[in-house]
Amino acid sequence: MNRTVVGIDLGTTHSLVAYRHEDGRVEVLPDREGRLLLPSVVALSRDGVRVGWNARERVNDPETTVIYAAKRLMGRSFEETESERRHLTYPIVDRNGSPAVPDPFRNRFLTPPEIGALVLRELRSRAEEALSREVTEAVITVPAYFNDAQRQATKDAGSLAGLSVLRIINEPTAAALAYGLGSGKDGLFAVFDLGGGTFDFSLLDIRKGIFEVRATNGDTHLGGEDFDRAIVTEWLGESPKLLSLAERSEVRDLLRKEAERAKIALSSRTEVEVAIPAAGFRTTLTRARMNELVEPFVEKALSCVRSALADSGTPPSGVDGVILVGGSTRFLRFKEAVATFFGKPLFDTVDPDLVVAEGAAVQADILSGRRKDLLLLDVTPLSLGIETIGGVTSTLIPRNTTVPAQAKELFTTYVDGQTNVDIHVLQGEREMARDNRSLARFTLSGIPPLPAGTPRIEVTFQIDANGILEVTAREQTTGKMSNVVIHPSYGLGKDDVRTLLKEAFSHAQEDFATRLLVDARTEAQTVINATIRALERVGSDILPDADREAISRQVEALKKAMEGTDGRKVRDETRLLDNLTQPLAERLMNQSISNALSGMALPKEGGSHA
Ligand code: AMP
Repeated sequence: MNRTVVGIDLGTTHSLVAYRHEDGRVEVLPDREGRLLLPSVVALSRDGVRVGWNARERVNDPETTVIYAAKRLMGRSFEETESERRHLTYPIVDRNGSPAVPDPFRNRFLTPPEIGALVLRELRSRAEEALSREVTEAVITVPAYFNDAQRQATKDAGSLAGLSVLRIINEPTAAALAYGLGSGKDGLFAVFDLGGGTFDFSLLDIRKGIFEVRATNGDTHLGGEDFDRAIVTEWLGESPKLLSLAERSEVRDLLRKEAERAKIALSSRTEVEVAIPAAGFRTTLTRARMNELVEPFVEKALSCVRSALADSGTPPSGVDGVILVGGSTRFLRFKEAVATFFGKPLFDTVDPDLVVAEGAAVQADILSGRRKDLLLLDVTPLSLGIETIGGVTSTLIPRNTTVPAQAKELFTTYVDGQTNVDIHVLQGEREMARDNRSLARFTLSGIPPLPAGTPRIEVTFQIDANGILEVTAREQTTGKMSNVVIHPSYGLGKDDVRTLLKEAFSHAQEDFATRLLVDARTEAQTVINATIRALERVGSDILPDADREAISRQVEALKKAMEGTDGRKVRDETRLLDNLTQPLAERLMNQSISNALSGMALPKEGGSHA
């Protein structure tokens, strides 16, 4: 019996589950009522926990906590969800640094993975009913810019729902798979994903069955709901009576629904009549006017597209096709704008609401072992590395590396007799550790007490096919190892990958200068320490007094340079000291100086980073 692996699109507003049958047909699995979408909504009330459509019905019930858009909180720290929390109307509290929603009826707190798990469990039982067999394995999609913590949180949600998550794949990759790209059809494809509330743009390079996300960009608050709001605003401007009634939330809800209905109707008609009898309001919305209203949003989306293309150095003509994803790409004005911008064919024959789930099902099918023709690889969206002495970032796996990937590097100690090192795992493009995302921290202890720069500590980064990271540190002489279970701090940098990349770009010059200075100071201090040690050990038989004085003077000159902010000056003074001590080092056959000068050092546990 073949394994039953389903594909799941765990969306911000809706989620879906799909399956590829033995005959190759991909089916989005319906619920008992025949509905394909499941609202990603959970309602907590006295009489129970509801998920999906039943939960959404409770939206206006004051006795119920209605949780929606929990994907926006997934894998992020409480602090870092601040801007999201402002848009969400349900209570979110800080539980050990992570966001959680209180369930007052059951005296507990739900974390984002637990909320995700409730939605996944519902999809799982829907799949089991539709397929009449047990379903325990799945592929789940996430946005391409999701970081390790967000991917891990999504995987956790799967486990909590009793699903073994065989792979987390990027949504644009899934969309491309649904169109059969990758099996014979290679090229550079753009994925334009405009949903109800979010816009994601990705450039996907597909070669010989390998999928690489070349660039991502977008806006986490741009989508169909903005268009609905623009229409409502227009109507409120037309009717003072409507404006005064709109103070009431149920009137606003009604207006929003009417606006959405009118917008969707304009995909197949050139004008639509709208009437709200209770407010004595009648109007006609034309497609032309609608297009004017959304023009600023079209421009906003296209500017994200331009940035992504610029990031990857691709002209619009370098793109072989554009895949449309998300309900709002049905909007004719958007289709037209995208087609004109790229001048390339649009992939729009698969329902844009279903395409990601269908692609996930294709991938699920491949992983079930039935098909062997496709290899799926994604890339790391941001660089991964560790903090080294002076608070600088040392990158082990550069961004856009195809996963699975492994990298190893040797590090050493900074202080004589140092018996432990602090491994601080970072994600991001900035030179200084403090400007990057902190993913985890751990200590390798039990290092034999040796002179600084002598121990050899091998740090290994391993990312599996899901983009999940494991970091190991091993001291080579003793074999002492700290095989760390990475504890993603569930902390996302400032906002998301895009912001981080933008920041890295705009700070590149000052970052470079800071790094130069910090590296120069670190090296200078190492040389000074080694010099002082050497001076203490030798008498005038080996080192004539005149030489000793010259060296001491140069140590002072170097210390003075270190107080300044000119990294080059520090480096030059270090070289001078280095030259002066070179003959001494040779005479002493003392390897510790030269050892100390090679290899990046790791901070001590709890050590300060200059
Ligand atoms: P999604 O989040 O991908 O399910 O997208 C849902 C969004 O697509 C909602 O804002 C819908 O109003 C919008 N939408 C659905 N059909 C159309 C259409 N024909 N024209 C414009 N927007 C649409």
